[in-house]
Amino acid sequence: KKIWDIFPRDEAEKRFTVVKWVFENGQTRIIEVRVPRPDGDRFYVTTAKPILDDESQVASVICISKDITDRKLAEEALVRMAQYDGLTDLPNRALFSDRLQHAISEAVRNKTRLALLFIDLDHFKTVNDTCGHAAGDLLIQAVALRLQSNVRKSDTVGRLAGDEFVVVLPDIEGDSFAMAVADKIRDSLSQPFDLNEYQSHAISASIGVAIYPDHGLTEIELTRSADNAMYGAKSSGRNQVRLFQSTSSILLR
Ligand code: GH3
Ligand code: MG
Repeated sequence: KKIWDIFPRDEAEKRFTVVKWVFENGQTRIIEVRVPRPDGDRFYVTTAKPILDDESQVASVICISKDITDRKLAEEALVRMAQYDGLTDLPNRALFSDRLQHAISEAVRNKTRLALLFIDLDHFKTVNDTCGHAAGDLLIQAVALRLQSNVRKSDTVGRLAGDEFVVVLPDIEGDSFAMAVADKIRDSLSQPFDLNEYQSHAISASIGVAIYPDHGLTEIELTRSADNAMYGAKSSGRNQVRLFQSTSSILLR
């Protein structure tokens, strides 16, 4: 049979190119191939080895393919676990930090402004205490969905820890835009959550907003400012949005 009779067209072409290369160069090549399949992609590692004749010319090429799908999927799952929060599937602290640094670099390059929102749910412990940890988990997942539905595709939502979420709004036109988004988020989170057909829960959130470059030039400075502003919102009654004020940072440190 020809190679085209055995494999789908794209895959056959990839393999044919490698076999041709081995024929021409007389050296072994190892390649990994990802084959899209309707029931999930398969991965193969193929070793293509030249067989030489008495005159040291390539007489034929032998290919051995091994299905490494299980290993590849396990590797992909590990990479995902290192970057995404298991409960909400949002970027975790490490990936969010990367995204924020990237957004700051873009803001420096394009001379634009960006906003960092720090969001902490109010009295979240009482949800766990009164409804149980499983209901608390459901609520955290629902909060993650609501946050994502209130921002643009280009904005990043992350979960730093527990009931602490962050949003980066790159390229904001003005501070009032960031405050409007934060207000919209605060309002949306204060609408009751139907956890299942029996349980509905009302919560609120305190939100701190910090703007690059006014409230910090680096990821660390900006994060500290947004965190400070969030604590300002907590200490003045919760369920509020606070823009970072340099005086509040002195009071709260
Ligand atoms: P505050 O208004 O001051 O923020 O009070 P709080 O009760 O929300 O307390 P805080 O933010 O300090 O702590 C968050 C709590 O969230 C601590 C813990 O009980 C709970 N929590 C943290 N991670 C998880 C989680 O993954 N699942 C659930 N169900 N609860 C969590
Ligand atoms: Mg909290």
